[in-house]
Amino acid sequence: MSNPTSVLLAQAQFLTSAAQPRGFPPADCPEVAFAGRSNAGKSSALNALCGRRKLARISKTPGRTQLINFFEMEGARLVDLPGYGYARVPPKVRAQWQGLIESYLQKRKTLRGIVLIMDSRHPLTEFDQQMLEWGKSSGLDFHLLMTKADKLNRGPAQAALLAVRKAQPDYSVQLFSATNRQGVEEAQAKIAQWLSQK
Ligand code: GDP
Repeated sequence: MSNPTSVLLAQAQFLTSAAQPRGFPPADCPEVAFAGRSNAGKSSALNALCGRRKLARISKTPGRTQLINFFEMEGARLVDLPGYGYARVPPKVRAQWQGLIESYLQKRKTLRGIVLIMDSRHPLTEFDQQMLEWGKSSGLDFHLLMTKADKLNRGPAQAALLAVRKAQPDYSVQLFSATNRQGVEEAQAKIAQWLSQK
């Protein structure tokens, strides 16, 4: 439980929300971003990784769901990107947050990698695939976190894991559950590896 990364992540505190690139904090320390379809379990995963129950609740408060939310630890940050895939969002709003996400992902020199949160029962949605394709062409690294694994039996969970590994051989993939904490240490190890990169 208390490996050095879990100690680091437990320090995470809300720093700021940004609606535009000029609202981003200075790019002066390594960052790991979290992305995923709305309702995939991103907030729950962030809370589980930081050992906190309500850390990511801030990202869910009305008015902040379309913003990029920054959380700070000593010498590192976690960046919660707005959930994508709201079916009923007007095209103008969607274009706005796509632009915001793209400007962060494309220009952030201190971005080490992106944890892409997917529901284990519905991995690699069209949006996930778009994000991966687009990220690949921009040279970004991903860790695919298949959450809500507690909702699948062992066999189907393993089969889903292998299918995603096969479809995305360039990236690390794992099963995860915020409910029973399966995979927390594995995800923390990936984050630690990214944060320690020069
Ligand atoms: P977000 O919109 O991606 O931030 O998703 P949330 O973290 O709010 O989770 C969406 C729903 O899925 C909530 O009802 C959570 O309680 C549930 N959920 C999230 N993670 C898990 C998990 O690992 N296991 C189970 N069983 N439910 C989960």
